[in-house]
Amino acid sequence: MLTVDELPSRRLVEYEHVAGPEVVEDLFRLAEPLRGARVLHVNATAFGGGVAELLTSLVPLMRDAGLDCHWQVLEGPPEFFATTKTMHNALQGAEVCWSSAQAEIWRSVNRCNARAIDDSWDYVVVHDAQPAAILASAAMDNGVRPQGRWTWRCHVDLTDASSNVWNFLAPYVAGYDAGIFSMPDYVRPGLSLNSVRIVPPAIDPLSEKNRPVEKVVVRGVLERYGIDLNRPIMLQVSRFDPWKDPVGVIDAYRLARTEVRTLQLLMIGSMADDDPEGWEWYERTVAHAGGDEDIHVYTNLDGVNAHEVNCFQRAADVVVQNSTREGFGLVVSEALWKERPVVARDAGGIPIQIRHGESGHLITTSEECADSVVHYLKHPEERRAAGAAGRARVRDHFLITRYLGDYLALFNDLGRRPAAEVVERAGAPVLSAAAV
Ligand code: UDP
Repeated sequence: MLTVDELPSRRLVEYEHVAGPEVVEDLFRLAEPLRGARVLHVNATAFGGGVAELLTSLVPLMRDAGLDCHWQVLEGPPEFFATTKTMHNALQGAEVCWSSAQAEIWRSVNRCNARAIDDSWDYVVVHDAQPAAILASAAMDNGVRPQGRWTWRCHVDLTDASSNVWNFLAPYVAGYDAGIFSMPDYVRPGLSLNSVRIVPPAIDPLSEKNRPVEKVVVRGVLERYGIDLNRPIMLQVSRFDPWKDPVGVIDAYRLARTEVRTLQLLMIGSMADDDPEGWEWYERTVAHAGGDEDIHVYTNLDGVNAHEVNCFQRAADVVVQNSTREGFGLVVSEALWKERPVVARDAGGIPIQIRHGESGHLITTSEECADSVVHYLKHPEERRAAGAAGRARVRDHFLITRYLGDYLALFNDLGRRPAAEVVERAGAPVLSAAAV
């Protein structure tokens, strides 16, 4: 596994003015019994997508709270990431062919990566399906389950998970002490874990992605990318991925443009290290744009990083999120925090962020998306009201301070440093050698 060590520094006291001093005080109180606890987060990529975004802020904040927190990323060949993308798609509801060869790639890469796990961790948090077999592999390698409390943190909407892949994955998940899901509906029936928590993700208001930026700087970034500052902007920020429906965004823009002839569409997507479909969907998007000069498609390879995304979100008149599946959709809270109205599909974690008619519109089709975009463009006072309501909702529910508190509470409840436990623990689901 690779250790992620280039992380921004974060100090909890700096969050007092955004979240409130009492919130920060509570966090230090929750962290006190955990002082010095060794915490390891494991996921599939250090860059691109919501999980990497969250860990980039959460790990330094856990450190500032007094925990000895680390982040490691799986290493694997391209066929492993192709396999895990298939898994990811299946867990979000796609019918896929899941072969024994794919299962073996997944298991063997997890086995190799598990060798890096030693017994020094008090808490290990394993994010999503890619590294889910790390616990079983480490247990089988050593003959005993590694010490510490193990949590499986699922960021994906499992509501319609394809049964062949979920039935394959479930025995690996069942070996964990705790599971964290973003929404109650995502907890699969029959999954028996000692502790299950519902914890929606959250944004870091002080990150480069979300901190305040002066208008003159925003304008400079837009000019650099050839965007006309005097014409309305519709924006979607997302990986190029079938579930984010980038082609449908273009359809909605074309419909909206019949009403607002000056509209521009800005589509920003990062190429995550663990997402092999990115280029294919980028090319489909560009092809669908068909050379329209008012459709601007950029990626991190064009220099669009956190600061530029921040500026684009601040400059947009309306932000859209056209996802047909969305575990949570951090981009929605990012835009709401910047007081943008958001028009988004009523999918996954989106409706807990957007109150329909208050901070944005929940839609189900490209036609509805276009209607809502046009509505906001024609009603600036509603845009402003939605922006204010959206920011308040994020401040109350979706800031990283709340997210950190949820983890600290879970760690406290799980208790610290249990004695080593053998693989076949009484009363807990058993992972057989054949499963690994
Ligand atoms: N993101 C980014 N650049 C891009 C596209 C996305 O920085 O070009 C970030 C976005 O700002 C958000 C995260 O990637 O912080 C995406 O998280 P989300 O939960 O919305 O979706 P996921 O990619 O995890 O499905």
